[in-house]
This record gives sequence, C-alpha cells and structure tokens, in this order.
Amino acid sequence: MPLALNGSGITNGIAIGYAHIMRQGVGDIARFDIAPEDLDNEVRRYLAAVELAISQLHTIRADIPKHIPKDVAAFIDTYLLMLDDDALKTGPVHHIQEQHCNAEWALQIQCSAIESVFQEMQDPYLKTRIDDINHVVNRIQRILAISEDSDRTETILPAQTIIIADDLSPAETLTFLHDQVAGIVLQGCAPTSHTAILVRSLGIPTIIGVDHALQLLQEREPVVIDARKGVILAGLDIEQTAHYRLLLRREKAAAQTALRSVRLASVTLDGIKVALRANLELPHDLKLAQTMHAAGVGLYRTEFLYLGGLVASEADQLRAYSRVLKAMPRQPVTIRTLDIGADKNFEDAATTSNSALGLRAIRLCLKDQAMFKVQLRAIHRAAVYGQTRILLPMVTALPEIQDVKRLIRECVAELARKGIKHKSRLPLGCMIETPAAALTAAQLAPHIDFFSIGTNDLIQYTLAVDRTESSVNYLYDNCHPAVLGLLDHVLKVGTRTGKSVALCGEMAGDPFFTRFLLAIGLREFSLHPINLPEIKNIIRTSKVSGMQRMARRIINAASPQEARFLIRTLNAS
Ligand code: PEP
Ligand code: MG
Repeated sequence: MPLALNGSGITNGIAIGYAHIMRQGVGDIARFDIAPEDLDNEVRRYLAAVELAISQLHTIRADIPKHIPKDVAAFIDTYLLMLDDDALKTGPVHHIQEQHCNAEWALQIQCSAIESVFQEMQDPYLKTRIDDINHVVNRIQRILAISEDSDRTETILPAQTIIIADDLSPAETLTFLHDQVAGIVLQGCAPTSHTAILVRSLGIPTIIGVDHALQLLQEREPVVIDARKGVILAGLDIEQTAHYRLLLRREKAAAQTALRSVRLASVTLDGIKVALRANLELPHDLKLAQTMHAAGVGLYRTEFLYLGGLVASEADQLRAYSRVLKAMPRQPVTIRTLDIGADKNFEDAATTSNSALGLRAIRLCLKDQAMFKVQLRAIHRAAVYGQTRILLPMVTALPEIQDVKRLIRECVAELARKGIKHKSRLPLGCMIETPAAALTAAQLAPHIDFFSIGTNDLIQYTLAVDRTESSVNYLYDNCHPAVLGLLDHVLKVGTRTGKSVALCGEMAGDPFFTRFLLAIGLREFSLHPINLPEIKNIIRTSKVSGMQRMARRIINAASPQEARFLIRTLNAS
C-alpha cells in the first residue's frame, strides 16, 4: 500500500530517488565509552572528519556556478571559518580526552554548548547563525557516520537523493549542487523564502509544508515526488514506479519541445497579443529569461541583494541592475523596490509579532529612508542602460506613493547636483497585493504609471491566511471568489483609467489559470521563466472571444469549489 504525503509544490517536476533524512541538530547521537588506549585513535578520527568536511566545502566552493550570487557563496566561507575555529576543532577533542567518549558524542556536547552561547545573544541576526553551526556540525556527523572502509573522497550524498528535512538554509541548499540532489521535501519553509527562491532557480523539484515527512519516511526508502501536484509517494510497486518514470521522460521531452517553440509569438488564436515577462529572483534567472524569449522583466525581486540581513551598497546594486538592463535594453525591466520583512526574513522585521502585517516592504523603506535612497539612486543610475520601471511593494494607501515620489525627487536632485549620470523620470508602478490597494485602485491610478497584481500576498491578505503557515495552507485558495473578484475589479479599473495591469504572482505561471486570466482581460503576465513555454503554449491555443460568458460565471461563483469546477470547464473547452 503506497504512502502519499501532501504539501505545496514550489517548482514543477517529477523526481524519482531515495530518501535521505536530514534532521536538524544531532539529537539522536549515542554515547560510547572509549578505552584509554583508543583515545588517540578517536581524536584522529574526529580530526580527519573535520579535515574532510573542510576539503568538501573547498570543492563545493570551487564548483559554484557563476550565476549564483556572491552573497550566497559567502556562506561557504562562513562554514569554512567555523570549521577552522577552536570551538569546533579542538573543543570536541578535549571532550574525547576528558570524558573518554566517542567523537560523535563529543561533538554533540560541544554543539549544545555553542548553541547556548548563541541563544544568549541579543543580536537577532547573530542568533540565527546557529543554523550555520548546525549545518557544519551535521556535515561532520555525517562523515563520522560513514563506515571506515568506504571511500571518503566520494560525495556524501549518493546520486538520486531526495532530501527530507524540516527546513534548509539557502547555504545548505547551495551545497546540494555538488551532491546531485534530485528533489527536496521540507516540512516547513515558506514558498517565498530565500531557500524556495533558490531551489526554483536551481530547478530542483521541491515540495514544502509536508507534515510528518521526517517521521513517516525512512532513510534510503525509494520515493517519488510530483512537485506540480505537491505529492510525495513511497512504497510504490514496480508498475507504479514505471508509470512515474514514463511521466518523467515525457516531462523532459515536453520541456525540449516547449523550448523549441519559445521563439514563436505570444498571441492568441484570435490575434490578441499577450506580453510574457520574466520574474527574476537570482541572477541566473536572467539567462533563463533570455533563453525563453521573455518580453522583458515584469518583476525583479531585489531582496536577494540583501541576503542575510546585509545591506547591499549603491555600487553593488548599480552593478546588479545594470547587468539586467544591459541584457534586455529594448524591453521593460521592472525593478521592485525592497520587499524585505515577513516571509523574506530580515532582522528588524523578524522581531515583530506578526511580520506579515508589520514593518515590511514599502513601510520598512519609508522608515529607513537612508537605506531606501541608496536603492532609488542605484535604480536611477542604472536606468541609463535600458527601459527601467520602478515597482512599489505592499502599498496600502496613496500617501505611501506620494512619500516615495518625494524621495525620488530628492535622489534625482542629488544625482544631478553631483553630475552623476542618471535618468530622471522613470515609470512608477504600484503592486496590488493588499485588498486596500485593490479596492482603491481607481484612486491610486492617477498617481502611478502601471499596476502589477501580486496574487501571492493578495490572497494572503484577502483570505486572512498566512502564506507561510502550513496549518492553514488549505484555506489559501486562489479560486476563492473574493480573490477572483478583486482581480476582475483591478483589470476593469486598468481599462477605465488607461493604466496597464500586469500580474506577477505565482498565478501567472500556473497553467490552470491562464485562460481565465485571459478571459478577464489580463494581457501582461510576469512569471518565472521556467514556466514561460507552457503558458505561451496555452495562449497560442486559446481563443479569447467567446470566453467572456464563462468568465462572468466564474467571477460570480458562490464558492472556491464552484469557481474551480468552472475554470476546469473553461480549460477543457
Ligand atoms: C506577490 O505577492 O504576489 C508577489 C509577486 O510578491 P512576493 O511573492 O515577492 O511577495
Ligand atoms: Mg508580495
């Protein structure tokens, strides 16, 4: 009888492999007495494990692909520094010698001691560094667990490994590049966390929010994950596994076919042009956006420049934005200003009790205006290289837009005064991701140049469902009539006021909604470039005229279930 666990797929793709259970911390370690004559051997065993961990990390460091941002790679340096520190190098050695215990146990007590020091720290950012210590300690423990006769120069994780963990840091995720990980299953993790962004960019099939995965799955158990459906299957028989192998082969073939059609125009059967722009998260996505022939960038999430709570300098930001603009000089590149806080952990925001409703995004930027002006200056300077647009996240009311405009004026005046090359007037857009912005879009319209709907947050705020909270995931429903009604409303406001409306939340890349969105008038989709071929294919095989009646029925549906049923009918027509 197969075991099926459900969660939310944050990538597409099927993976077939063997579970590798990664527990946080080292709680299951047993203590053994070591005879006095064997103590030197045990110390040598420990130091050899540390040396191997160091050499593995050096290899990972050397193999990091160029597209991975420097900040992420810097985590590996942090690990290396920790491995070189006496706390990890000689601390456990003393425990072995003094307590006559095995290396694993010695490392565990040392780790607990370090953990308590970190817990006492006032600085919330430093406090979170305990995750890095755990990563390093787990790495050494895994090496210690390898039998004496195995080839220690091999990578620790065998090919086709499917990681099962509670959560992962971006740096841990990065080390999987070296380990040929086939898929990832996490009990926790937010769909828009840095880890989620990274796995999407790396194209690793990943499912998050899977309750009890650590208890229910066994080490080295064969598992299949279907990330699109958000399901993990174990205990499949030969026929069922063969079925998934077939699906995997078809998926690869379909991806190849889709790739061949990316040059074709994005136009419906009845001749309606639809702009398919890219959401950029990692620099790597830029290359993918170009490969997929994206019509520019609809959402450049700049949070990655602030990874780990570090504020990127104006020069760093200028470099990052210019690179994207130079790569796409003739198409719009929409740079969203910093959206840190809430699910995109940042030290200040992490300290508030309900960070999704707290000091995040535009609120944080308007509070720390010096930091915000660094970004605004960098954007205006980079703008000389292409068609830059600025997009403001999490707007709830007009004064926020007016405050930003004032800051922009100040930045432009400063740049002009100093004779620094820049563009002074850039299109300014407002994200519609709060019900307040959606309902007052008509009042906001005269003050901005374009709208972009962020359904990820709009759904969270409309339905009062924390998008990072797995216990209420079942209520996070894109098909809720309240959500669909707001989308329809904003598109109508756009038509009435002559302001373009894009959609840049995950819904834009979900093939289930493509026809519905076309039917209610969406003409600009911004999505992760990996999804672009599939969405283009649906656009090219859809006829919008004639869909309006069904669109009205969907908008007026009494329940999410009814709306979903009607959308399915629309898709089948
Ligand atoms: C959204 O909320 O839909 C969005 C695009 O922004 P993010 O996912 O980065 O919060
Ligand atoms: Mg958002």
